[in-house]
Amino acid sequence: MTIDVKTETARLLDKLGVDRAAWSTGDMASHSPVTGEEIARVKTVSAAEAGKAITAAYEAFKAWRLVPAPKRGELVRLLGEELRAAKADLGRLVSIEAGKIISEGLGEVQEMIDICDFAVGLSRQLYGLTIATERPGHRMMETWHPLGVVGIISAFNFPVAVWSWNAALALVCGNPVVWKPSEKTPLTALACQAVLERALARFGDAPKSLSQVLIGDRAIGEVLVDHEKIALVSATGSTRMGREVGPRLAKRFARSILELGGNNAGVVCPSADLDMALRAIAFGAMGTAGQRCTTLRRLFVHENIYDQLVPRLKKAYASVSVGNPLETSALIGPLIDKAAFDNMQKALSAARAEGGSVTGGERVAAASQDTAYYVQPAIVEMPKQAGPVLEETFAPILYVMEYSDFDQVLEEHNAVAAGLSSSIFTLNMQEAERFLSADGSDCGIANVNIGTSGAEIGGAFGGEKETGGGRESGSDAWRAYMRRATNTVNYSKALPLAQGVSFDI
Ligand code: NAD
Repeated sequence: MTIDVKTETARLLDKLGVDRAAWSTGDMASHSPVTGEEIARVKTVSAAEAGKAITAAYEAFKAWRLVPAPKRGELVRLLGEELRAAKADLGRLVSIEAGKIISEGLGEVQEMIDICDFAVGLSRQLYGLTIATERPGHRMMETWHPLGVVGIISAFNFPVAVWSWNAALALVCGNPVVWKPSEKTPLTALACQAVLERALARFGDAPKSLSQVLIGDRAIGEVLVDHEKIALVSATGSTRMGREVGPRLAKRFARSILELGGNNAGVVCPSADLDMALRAIAFGAMGTAGQRCTTLRRLFVHENIYDQLVPRLKKAYASVSVGNPLETSALIGPLIDKAAFDNMQKALSAARAEGGSVTGGERVAAASQDTAYYVQPAIVEMPKQAGPVLEETFAPILYVMEYSDFDQVLEEHNAVAAGLSSSIFTLNMQEAERFLSADGSDCGIANVNIGTSGAEIGGAFGGEKETGGGRESGSDAWRAYMRRATNTVNYSKALPLAQGVSFDI
């Protein structure tokens, strides 16, 4: 049966409770990469409307910061419940709007549920330290307070999870959120807002404008970045975007969490379990059609096992199923748009010019649509790390290189501008530990015997260098959403000064 994507989109949006006025007759066309067709027309906001929304969010902040954190957690608990109820529909909408295969669309919503659970627990654990003081009769401690309005700018490839990582933490930390989703994925954003509004209705007395979505292009993102009432901007997207956003936020001393591009690598050592490595590499490099920030893009294979592993990998690449994620059991869906396809072809030509031998990479006809861009994932054997290998191309291209010396491969591993995710495949404890050590991988995520992508929400997520340095999601990432005060209380009858200073009047 052929699915009419536009009709299916309307059905899902209705079911998820999104107001038709927001997506049926608006000024901005929304397309599905599954067929390339227009599926909705969303209503964008003007810069002035965005400014008003931020002012309203600031009013909400004044009230929300006074609500006890565990009670704020109750709202996020309800959001988790609503997401559980909406999982199938929202996951399917993610597949339509971002082109992910169904199980990845559902997985993305599961990640939202997981972060809600995490944030609910966190709402009773926003701990500060009690610190030893050098002065008798004194107590020193830290308290963590809500920070202010949190602006969220997100990329197309994780259209809902990134919002939830930020929103769930921001809300329990006492902050309203204002979200500028990718202009390529506005519909899932509207759906998230509808789901949250159901949780808000059940919660009862939350302030108005606690969570808002601003549909628009980068100019609306810039309003968030420049507005004095936005205390923190969490921006996920390309390094190009971060280079523009970071300095503007720094100029007004606002906080930033920058989650930018990756150029992630794996090292396969002589002792590796090759069956396991093969599966991890296949998912890491081809999954989500190479459109994850954590996608495996560079692979270093030891010369002793190169001829065992690489032919098997090529076979996997040739046989992987590419197709319409809604109608087939394909493992690889479409690229987001024509620009992504053109960038991929450009990178492949540049790789050939550097002496690379390319297998795959050609366009695949799917559903006889000439407006959709499906590609056979490409595997490129490179004589050395050069040219396009040094950059992130947001498409399924895996550059494979042979190595012989472990120290040398560590250097090459780190010799790119990005520093997000990394993996080593080895059964040798010394290699594994070295990879995780101070002079091993320089990435924010370093794994052993699992791939570069598919992180869980319990750990802090983010990377170094041109990946931006931000951390969100688990561990103590919540601290970025709060302000810390150090308090010293004198319960004695004297006033001793620190460092033995005397100032007697
Ligand atoms: P993009 O940079 O084109 O857009 C991301 C968002 O930034 C969009 O909402 C866009 O409107 C906004 N934006 C762009 N320029 C802006 C500006 N000057 N001021 C304010 N907002 C601006 O990225 P994309 O193509 O949607 O996503 C792909 C990129 O995102 C890849 O580089 C990928 O690695 C990266 N990414 C990183 C992470 C991470 O956690 N590190 C996660 C997902 C995606």
